[in-house]
Formats: sequence, C-alpha cells, structure tokens
Amino acid sequence: MFKIGCHLSASKGYQNMAEEAMKIGANTFQFFTRNPRGGNAKPIDEADIAEFKKVSQEYGIDIILAHSPYTLNCCSAKPDIREFAIRTMKDDLERMEYTPYNLYNFHPGSHVGQGVELGIQYIIEALNTVLDKNQTTTVLLETMAGKGSEIGSRFEEIRQIIDGVNLKEKMGVCLDTCHVSDAGYDIIHDLDGVLEQFDTILGLNRLKAIHLNDSMNPPGSHKDRHQKIGEGTLGIETFKKIINHPQLKELPFFLETPNELEGYAREIDLLKKMYQTKET
Ligand code: FE
Ligand code: FE
Ligand code: ZN
Repeated sequence: MFKIGCHLSASKGYQNMAEEAMKIGANTFQFFTRNPRGGNAKPIDEADIAEFKKVSQEYGIDIILAHSPYTLNCCSAKPDIREFAIRTMKDDLERMEYTPYNLYNFHPGSHVGQGVELGIQYIIEALNTVLDKNQTTTVLLETMAGKGSEIGSRFEEIRQIIDGVNLKEKMGVCLDTCHVSDAGYDIIHDLDGVLEQFDTILGLNRLKAIHLNDSMNPPGSHKDRHQKIGEGTLGIETFKKIINHPQLKELPFFLETPNELEGYAREIDLLKKMYQTKET
C-alpha cells in the first residue's frame, strides 16, 4: 500500500491531524512535537489521543512520524544547548509512548567548528542518554544537506553514530530526497547506485521513512532549500522512480514541500497517480 502524507500543524491536536490527513488524501503524516523553535510542548490530552486512535483505524493511518524541533543541537559546543536538546528529546520520547510504535525523527546537529568527530561523540552520548530499552518508538537520524557544519550529510557519519549507540535496535534513518541530492548523492541519474551505497554503509533495513522534497538547488550544493514536487532540480521522473523503487515503495513518504494544504492535496494526488500498484 502507498503510504503518503505531508507535514501538518500539530496545534489543534492529534485527532485534527488525522482529519486533515484524510481530507487531503493522506494516510500518514508528520508533525512537530512542539514549536519548532523548541519551547514547551502542549500537555498530552488523553481524550484527543483516544479519538485519534479511533479515527486512525477508520482512515487507515497506521504509522506517523514526529519531528523534533529543528533548532535542537545535540552536538553544540555549548553544554547548556546540548543539555537542552537531551531534555527535549527525552520528554518527546516519553510523549511518543502515548502513540506507541511510531517514528521520531531528528537532525543530528551541527558541530559548529569543533569537528565532525567530537560532534558525532556528542550525538552518541545524547542518544545513549535518551533511549530507553522499553520504548516502542524508533528514533530516526535524518540525512542532511551538509549546510554549514551539519553532521549527517554522509552515510558514513550516520553509520558512525549508530555504531556508538547501545540500543541500536531503536535506531533508524529517514532519507530526505532534497538533502541527499544537495549533499551530492546523484539520485537523479543513479538512484540504484545511491541505494546500494546506503545498503552497504547503513543497511536498507535501517531505512524507515522518506522525506519527499524537490530541491531549489543543484546536486552537491549543500543548501537545503525545498521545492515543490517536479518544480525543482530533481524533477518529476526522479520522484516516480523513488516511490516505485522496489526497495522503497513500502516505506512511508512525507512531503515537506513549500505548500499549504491544497498544494499538498495536489501533490499527493499526483504521486498517487504515479504509484504503480500492480506488478507489470
Ligand atoms: Fe527534517
Ligand atoms: Fe526533511
Ligand atoms: Zn530540509
């Protein structure tokens, strides 16, 4: 089954997100666990969660992806910023257990000049602090564009992080199509080759979600500016190949394109028309 959705606002709660997803033809969605700038999260409303679970079943929503605030930086040079990231992630993961067996995605962070090696050590420490053996949530490291001193634009860096984590079975990867292209992986001409590299370095079994974004910039630009599907440098054919790739097509796909709900509805419709359901 084609699992397709987009980023939605969490401000009106879980049930509202499920309703919105259904209205735009989605059967999954992504949301920020709190204000993206990292403030306090709204208290969990158990009645809302109960309603959400009910309508999810009805609408065929079986997986959702929570995104940590993108301003968190587990590998900052400043201890208070690292501690804040850890506290926030720990709280997010506790909240995630109200909706068990879902996905939590975060940006590895920026080493801000201390170097990749130290940055990676800090990310490992953070994960070893926040992960709990009883959690049901899978935590995803997002592949990054390599803007500034961002860690995670090379598959090898993500591998190094996972290697250092004690509870590896709780870890996965979210591949962002804009980011990997901006990072220099040629998914336009050689998707198979990129996936082979991913498999060799990380293992495709670790890949749990795809962010579907076109890019405003050419491959290798390290910019991270998302574009609407088919209107950027990746182009519509690339997305057709991605969503239909035998090793990707069962994964959940999330749009983070510059759109309002109507725009997302159009993109979801377009992608559904391109998704091949029958073996030919
Ligand atoms: Fe992200
Ligand atoms: Fe993304
Ligand atoms: Zn991005």
